[in-house]
Amino acid sequence: MTQYDYDLFVIGAGSGGVRAARIASQHGAKVAVAEDYRVGGTCVIRGCVPKKLFVYASHYSEAFEDAVGFGWTTEKVGFDWPTLVENKDKEIDRLNKAYIRNLEASGAELIMARAVFEDRHTVALADGRRISARYVLIATGAAPFVPLHLPGRELAITSNEAFHLERLPQRICIVGGGYIAVEFAGIFNNLGVETILIYRGEKILRGFDEDLRDHLTKEMKKKGIELRTGCDVVKIERSGSGVRVTCNDDAVFGAGQIMYATGRIPNVMGLNLEKVGVELTPHYAVKVDAYSRSSVENIYAVGDVTNRLNLTPVAIREGHAFADTVFGGRNIAVDHSNVPSAVFAQPEIGTVGLSEAAARELHPKIDIYKTSFRPMRHTMTGRDERSLMKLVVDGSNDQVLGCHIIGPGAAEMAQLLGLAIKAGATKADFDATMALHPTAGEELVTMRQKWTG
Ligand code: NDP
Repeated sequence: MTQYDYDLFVIGAGSGGVRAARIASQHGAKVAVAEDYRVGGTCVIRGCVPKKLFVYASHYSEAFEDAVGFGWTTEKVGFDWPTLVENKDKEIDRLNKAYIRNLEASGAELIMARAVFEDRHTVALADGRRISARYVLIATGAAPFVPLHLPGRELAITSNEAFHLERLPQRICIVGGGYIAVEFAGIFNNLGVETILIYRGEKILRGFDEDLRDHLTKEMKKKGIELRTGCDVVKIERSGSGVRVTCNDDAVFGAGQIMYATGRIPNVMGLNLEKVGVELTPHYAVKVDAYSRSSVENIYAVGDVTNRLNLTPVAIREGHAFADTVFGGRNIAVDHSNVPSAVFAQPEIGTVGLSEAAARELHPKIDIYKTSFRPMRHTMTGRDERSLMKLVVDGSNDQVLGCHIIGPGAAEMAQLLGLAIKAGATKADFDATMALHPTAGEELVTMRQKWTG
């Protein structure tokens, strides 16, 4: 039998790659992981974690305003951006070290170098070493994409740079209408930056439930974000220390920064995938089967590089399933249905299951239950902000197919609703659940009237 240096070589030490390496190691495999930047991947280093820390930071501006209604005086409040960035970086360093410790404790070897394929069992490292492995896992993630032919694209930053800005601009243009654009618009706006969101479509958050999209649009405008929909940037020019942004409707904006959040592309460039015969999808993702196996028998891929459902817990689950399948003797395919997700917009969104539109395409009879209300705390603050909750129910068997929430705590609620929906809960189960008072979540189990429009 052919001898290899390792049983498994993982390219990329992000969420998916690290989980796969640790579990494969626990199954007795000899594992190495190559990483050319920092251990932890997008989520830890320049994604979910620092973003959520920024979201927390940005909540305080409203919290200080709202505190007045509860009797607090808050005249001396101030905000220092460099302190936030420094403290965020300390936390990321801590997590980075914890990832390294956990990886090494599992027995996997960490190699800080870029790795590219030589052949289907061999990778070449940047330092000239060649390493062979029975299996190779591609877990290289994805990177922000700025449209290639946009004049002045080099003047745009992406979320990568937004985490390290030396100072906050007075004004920022954010381009895109997806998760990242919407989340950063909320962060910057609440930190006091004049924020313009430019989106090419008619309504932000394509693919989400229409009620969520409409509700968030209204709330973002109320908070002062300037939303320019149906608008595409055609040119970016330097203007003083900032930029001048020209759109296809001839609108021109001056801003300190322009940030692009127009999607992410899988990191496949330069890996030599064509040389080893790994097929890609039309969107440059590694094409895989239900077990994350690529078109080459011993090469697998997990996480954003496969562009299935680009969420950290999904990458982790895919990495774990891969390791169990290949080294643990249990064939496990990841179920990508009913995955809860959140958009940490302001107010935040939590959602799981089918949108009303998607449900209507799949099921002949759909019942809708929804409610919109002012969160209890705002009865004292005077803030004009409303929450929305919506259940999408299969009218033929009463099963809850989707649940969509916008308002404080939406993400936490969606996590637990994911359990109910995964377990096949019916509307009758929701009705039979006792309310927990006073909470926002109790609205979910007390909606009795079908929405008739
Ligand atoms: P998304 O795919 O969510 O959104 C991309 C946005 O950019 C869309 O509004 C899209 O418009 C627009 N767009 C695409 N190409 C162009 C272009 N050439 N010109 C102008 N606009 C364009 O990507 P994000 O970058 O926001 O996020 C990437 C992924 O990261 C998400 O899909 C998500 O899976 C993950 N993520 C998850 C988070 C979470 O769980 N909270 C947070 C952040 C990211 P259109 O709708 O018209 O296509």
